[in-house]
Amino acid sequence: MADYQAPLRDIRFVMNEVFDAPALWASLPKVAENVDPETADAILEEAGKIAGGVLAPLNREADEQGCKWNDGEVSTPEGFKEAYQTIVEGGWNGLGGNPEFGGMGMPKTLVAQFEEMIQASNMAFGLAPMLTAGACLALDAHGSQELKEKYLPNMYAGTWSGAMNLTEPHAGTDLGIIRTKAEPNDDGSYNVTGTKIFITWGEHDMAENIIHLVLAKLPDAPKGPKGISLFLVPKFLVNEDGSLGERNTLACGSIEKKMGIKASATCVMNFDGAKGWLVGEPNKGLAAMFTMMNYERLGVGIQGIGAAEASLQSAREYALERLQSRAPTGAQEKEKAADPIIVHPDVRRMLLTMKGYVEGGRAFSTYVAQWLDIAKYAEDDERRQHGEAMVALLTPVAKAFLTDRGLDACVIGQQVFGGHGFIREWGQEQLVRDVRITQIYEGANGIQALDLMGRKVVANGGRFFELFAEDVGAFIEANQNDVALRPYLEPLAASLERLADVTESVIKASAENPNEVGAASVDYLDLFGLTALAYMWARIVKAAAPKAEGDTSGFYTGKLKTARFYFDRMLPKTVSLAEGIRSGSASMMDLTAEEF
Ligand SMILES: Cc1cc2nc3c(=O)[nH]c(=O)nc-3n(C[C@H](O)[C@H](O)[C@H](O)COP(=O)(O)OP(=O)(O)OC[C@H]3O[C@@H](n4cnc5c(N)ncnc54)[C@H](O)[C@@H]3O)c2cc1C
Repeated sequence: MADYQAPLRDIRFVMNEVFDAPALWASLPKVAENVDPETADAILEEAGKIAGGVLAPLNREADEQGCKWNDGEVSTPEGFKEAYQTIVEGGWNGLGGNPEFGGMGMPKTLVAQFEEMIQASNMAFGLAPMLTAGACLALDAHGSQELKEKYLPNMYAGTWSGAMNLTEPHAGTDLGIIRTKAEPNDDGSYNVTGTKIFITWGEHDMAENIIHLVLAKLPDAPKGPKGISLFLVPKFLVNEDGSLGERNTLACGSIEKKMGIKASATCVMNFDGAKGWLVGEPNKGLAAMFTMMNYERLGVGIQGIGAAEASLQSAREYALERLQSRAPTGAQEKEKAADPIIVHPDVRRMLLTMKGYVEGGRAFSTYVAQWLDIAKYAEDDERRQHGEAMVALLTPVAKAFLTDRGLDACVIGQQVFGGHGFIREWGQEQLVRDVRITQIYEGANGIQALDLMGRKVVANGGRFFELFAEDVGAFIEANQNDVALRPYLEPLAASLERLADVTESVIKASAENPNEVGAASVDYLDLFGLTALAYMWARIVKAAAPKAEGDTSGFYTGKLKTARFYFDRMLPKTVSLAEGIRSGSASMMDLTAEEF
């Protein structure tokens, strides 16, 4: 098994050369106050050391040990407490946090790179800082000044961690039917009662306190999603002077045994009149959660890329060393018993497919992160609203496409190892098991596709889609005379046209038949994702081509050759996707329940 090494060269290439993130930061005064290229570079370097040197070495053993539940307490695998302390000492939980309460105020374009390295090296552990950062975001955006002052500094510091409590045994996708109740007290607090399941890091021994954000219903709440409120419920109550007070009446009833991310605790949380405080307005809890979700959903997409990168690193090393058969064109390494498997076209297909998804996906997540920075920090209203629209459109694509392809890439990486990929020792089977959850949590991928097709495309008559199409169109227009890009602009334009055409036809068909949206959605999201990655690969070519001549390292030439593979062998899948979508919903809806 190759030891995971943070791909800093690639990360810097995407951030600085493909997207020129420093220019974006300079254009956003609130970001420019906190970050400059040297600081960003030092942060990447340090994050790479923690990922490769601290977290990756714990990954396999922690998977074997798992977390242990004992009478409400959860103990973490060996080394996790010390690793968490490293995160605390570096203030990493607060990397993107609000400086007014002790955060570092770094832009998402940088934070996304940190997230990739942490998630690639140890996804089970990485969920802890990720959930804390998400809880901080929701609290910072919607909490009262008093709540923010009381909780955010310790959460950014990491001495207190965060957990998100949405799911209940009977309510996952459909949060409108949750049963957890919140009864008001005279002092402005609430008593929260109910059972939440699948709560990641809901209980553990790494932090002094755990701050739960809990969705619950007020006594007079309207039915459905419009009757949900958000509450902050700490494990230990916090005294006026900020010290920890008595234990709140909530407890971890058990932890789940599961397929992957075994080193993370997935908790049943019982709230028994636990004291909590309202975050944001009554009955607006879901909207408050959405602030956080756009960030978290990109974060989950990044987990997909991280796992795929780790798989690619191992598969590449293995393909260079494993000797089997001779190359079809004759022996390449005659002195050896056989050639390394990297000579075989099909092994190259597998490695290149992984590269296509990982490197294109990294560029795509950075592209979405750019829009998140614009949506959050732009001072000009029009620019900010443009950012918000792009984030709304692209978030479900980032979450679902990057995690679906993340699993594909991990399975392909496992395949490169043949039988050894199925064996524990090599690490590939763990990556497959770990990445699988990313398609399910934070909104199952089928629901992401519905969100894209239904809410983000059909509901507004394709207005957000037009913004994306304009962005790609402007790139094509501006680069007509770029020789390196010439082979790619036409297929990119054709793919965009195909997507636009399908967008229009589904909008039309759905006016007649509401089933058309759900019938088209997953294939539509894939078509969108493949087109978006083609745009990313074109931008990669634009950045790499001028530096490729005389590039003896193979870095830039490798990018150009992978782009060619992407356009030749991966992008054409859009043709069959479009054809499937155009066939409509009839073949899906024809069967009676019995005929299944
Ligand atoms: C390891 C793990 C960690 C988790 N961490 C957390 C956490 O920290 N906090 C938290 O609150 N939750 C957490 N979850 C819960 C997770 O977010 C939910 O499992 C997920 O949202 C799906 O809900 P469900 O399991 O109830 O599935 P269901 O909602 O029952 O869905 C079942 C299937 O039906 C489909 N479906 C449902 N409704 C529709 C529809 N309208 N149209 C089309 N298809 C539909 C879904 O796509 C899915 O394929 C975690 C889950 C796991 C397994």
